[in-house]
Amino acid sequence: MGIIKKLPVYSEKIPGGGIVTTSVEQVLNFAQAKSLWYLLFGTACCAIELMCTGASRYDFDRLGMIFRASPRQADLIIAAGTITKKMAPRLRTLYDQMAEPRYVIAMGGCTIKGGPFYYDSYSVEKGIEHIIPVDVFIPGCPPRPESLLEGCITLQKQIQQRKLGDWQEK
Ligand code: SF4
Repeated sequence: MGIIKKLPVYSEKIPGGGIVTTSVEQVLNFAQAKSLWYLLFGTACCAIELMCTGASRYDFDRLGMIFRASPRQADLIIAAGTITKKMAPRLRTLYDQMAEPRYVIAMGGCTIKGGPFYYDSYSVEKGIEHIIPVDVFIPGCPPRPESLLEGCITLQKQIQQRKLGDWQEK
C-alpha cells in the first residue's frame, strides 16, 4: 500500500483521495518483470542479433533488461544459438546456479529444435527443452531484434500474471 497524498500531480488524478492500494504479489511481480537481469548464452549467429538488441538502436535497457556475466546475479537466461551435446551439461549447471524464480528464453531455430542441424548432426542437441525448461520461444533464423523485444515483453506479461508460489523449482 502506498500513500501519495503529498504528490499533488498524482492525487488530483485519483478521484476521492490520494490513497492507492495494491498487493504484495503485484508489487513483487511488477518489480521483477521490469528489471530482468539476463545471462547471455550466445553460442552462434543468433547471438549477433542479441548483441544488436542490446546496442543503442534497439536499446534493450529500456525494458529493464541488464546483461550479467554471472548466473548468480541473473534471473533470466537468453539462449541464442546452436547448443551442442558437449555444451548441454554446462548449460544445465548455469541454469541451476541462477537465482529463483528464474526464466528462460530460447532464441532461434537452433536453440529451439536444432535448426539446420536437426538432421545429419551427431553433435547438436535437438532442442533446449531436453536440458532446461523454456518460458518463451522466439523462432527465426535468426530472429530480428524486434522479435526478441516482443519475446521479452511477452515474458514480462507472464511474470505479471504470476501467483506467489507459482515458481516452484522446475
Ligand atoms: S537459428 Fe540460424 S541464425 Fe540462429 S544460430 Fe541457428 S543457424 Fe545461426
